[in-house]
Amino acid sequence: MDKPADPALPVPDGSRRPLATLAIVLLSCFCVLLAALQAWSAWRAYQTELDDSRVTTANMARALASHAETSIKLGDAVLAEMVERIEHDGMDDAAAARLTQRLRTITHDVGELHGLFVYGPDGKWLTSSLPRPMQGNNFDREYFQYHLLHNERGTHVSVPVRSRSTGAWILPLSRRIEAPDGSFAGVALATLNLAWFGRFYESFDVGKNGTIVLALDNGTLIFRRPFNEDQVGMDIRNGTIWQLAQNNAKPGSVTLTPRIDNIERMYSYRHLQGFPLFVACGVAVDEILAGWRRSTLQTAVLGLAALLLLAWAGGLLVTQIRIRERLEGDLRRASAALQRHNASLQNLADSDSLTGLANRRLFEDRLVREYERARRSGAPFALVMIDIDHFKLYNDRYGHVAGDDCLRRVAGAIAAGARRPADLAARYGGEEFAVILADTDLAGAQAVADRIRAAVAGLDLRHQDNPAGRVTLSMGLYVGHPALADRNDPLAWVDVADRLLYEAKGAGRNRVVAREGHAAAA
Ligand code: GH3
Ligand code: MG
Ligand code: MG
Repeated sequence: MDKPADPALPVPDGSRRPLATLAIVLLSCFCVLLAALQAWSAWRAYQTELDDSRVTTANMARALASHAETSIKLGDAVLAEMVERIEHDGMDDAAAARLTQRLRTITHDVGELHGLFVYGPDGKWLTSSLPRPMQGNNFDREYFQYHLLHNERGTHVSVPVRSRSTGAWILPLSRRIEAPDGSFAGVALATLNLAWFGRFYESFDVGKNGTIVLALDNGTLIFRRPFNEDQVGMDIRNGTIWQLAQNNAKPGSVTLTPRIDNIERMYSYRHLQGFPLFVACGVAVDEILAGWRRSTLQTAVLGLAALLLLAWAGGLLVTQIRIRERLEGDLRRASAALQRHNASLQNLADSDSLTGLANRRLFEDRLVREYERARRSGAPFALVMIDIDHFKLYNDRYGHVAGDDCLRRVAGAIAAGARRPADLAARYGGEEFAVILADTDLAGAQAVADRIRAAVAGLDLRHQDNPAGRVTLSMGLYVGHPALADRNDPLAWVDVADRLLYEAKGAGRNRVVAREGHAAAA
C-alpha cells in the first residue's frame, strides 16, 4: 500500500562535520606561526646585536691604531731630528749640553715620551732627557744590537722593556747614528711610556670582560688590557688573534675564544700604517648579548603566556564546537526517530488493522485527490467496488476467526492486483473493498478487476455455501472522465460503482459489471 512520507523533517546526517578538527588545525597553525615569528625576530635581533658590536669594535680598532700611529710617528720625528743634529753638530761638550736641554724640553712637552737617550758606539750613555746624568751601558739591548748589525736609517720599534733608568714599562724606538764615513756611531733612543697607552686604553668602554691588545707583528705583546705586567713582552704567536692579523693585511672582525682567558669575544684587528704593529680589541659576546638575552627571555615568557591563553581559549572553543556537534547529532537522531514514529502513526491512522489495506479515511482522501487530478488533466478515472459473495454464510459456517483470515487473504489478492503507484486498494467496510485506478480506461480497469477475481479464485478458499464452492467476489466497475462530469462529485463515482456492484450481485454474483460514463449523468 501507499507509504505516506513527510519531507519537511531533515534526513539524518551520518557524516560528522569537521568543524572541531578544522578549528584545532587552524589554532595549531596559528600557534606554530606565532612561535616561528617570535623565534625569527629573536634571531634577527641576535644578528643585529652582533653586527652592531662588529661595527663598534672595528671603529674602536681604527681609533686605537690611529692613536698608536700618532705616538710612534711623534717618537720617529723626534729621533730623526736628534740623529740629524748629532751627525751634523757632533757631540762635543757644548753640542751635548745643548742637545740635553733640547731633549728635556721635548720630553717635558710630549706626554707619550718617557725619555730620549743617546748612546755611543760602545753602548755607553752619552746624554738623555733625564734630569741627572746616568751611568751604564745598553750594549746588550736588542735595539742596540740591531743598529750595530743593520745600517738601515729608519726607526726601529723594539720589544717593550722595563726602563733601567726609571723602572717604568717602555716601548723603545731607535735610530742608528752614523759617523761621516758611514760607520756605526751610536744609537738615538726614544722610549714611549706604556702607562700613557694604558690610560688611553682604559678610557674605552669595552665592558667588564673586554680586551685591547697592542702587539708587534713579530708576535711580541706590548700592551694588553686588562694590564698584567707578566704579559708584557709575551710571545703571542700561538694565539688566534695574532695568526689572523698576520694572515690578513686588511682590518677584520671575528668571534673567537682566546686561550689566554677562555672568554668568547667579538674581536676587530687592524695593522698600523707604516709600522710593524697591530691592534686588536674585543668585547665579550656574553656582554654583547646580555640585553638581547634579557629582552628575548621577556618576549618568550610573554609569547608563551599568549600561546597558553590561546590554547586555553582554543580548547574552550573546540569543546563548545564538539558539544554543539553532539547536540546536533542528537537532534538529528531524535528528529529521525520522530519522523519514523510519525510515519508509523500515519500508517496506523491510514491503514486497516485487520487487512493492512488503506482504511476508509485514506480511501476518501485519495478518492478526492485522484478524482480532482483526473478532472484537471482530463484523464480517465476508474473505481472498482468489491464485495465477497455470501460472506455472512461463510462466517456462519466457518466462524469469525476463519472469516477474518479469509478477509486478510482476499485483501492480499486485491492489493496484489492494484499494482501501479497511483492505484489504491482499500477496505471500504465489512467485507467490502474498493480500488481506485487513476488514469485507467475501461479496458485497463477491466483487466485489473479480472486479475483480482482470478487471484481470489487462485486462493481456492473453500466456501460450501457459495454456489461456486469457494470464495468469490462480485464487482462494480465504473470508468469515466471526471473532466466531463457536470458536477465535481467524486462520491457520485462511489454511488455508481456501488450500484453496479449490486447489479452484479443481482445477476448471480461472482462477476464484474462494468460501465463507462460520466457519473452525474449516470
Ligand atoms: P452478499 O453475497 O449479498 O454480499 O451476501 P453477504 O452475506 O456477504 O452479505 P451481507 O452484507 O448480508 O453480510 C456481510 C457479512 O460480512 C456480515 C458479517 O458476518 C460479515 N462481516 C463483516 N465484517 C466482518 C469482519 O470484519 N469479520 C468477519 N469475520 N466477518 C465480517
Ligand atoms: Mg456486503
Ligand atoms: Mg457480501
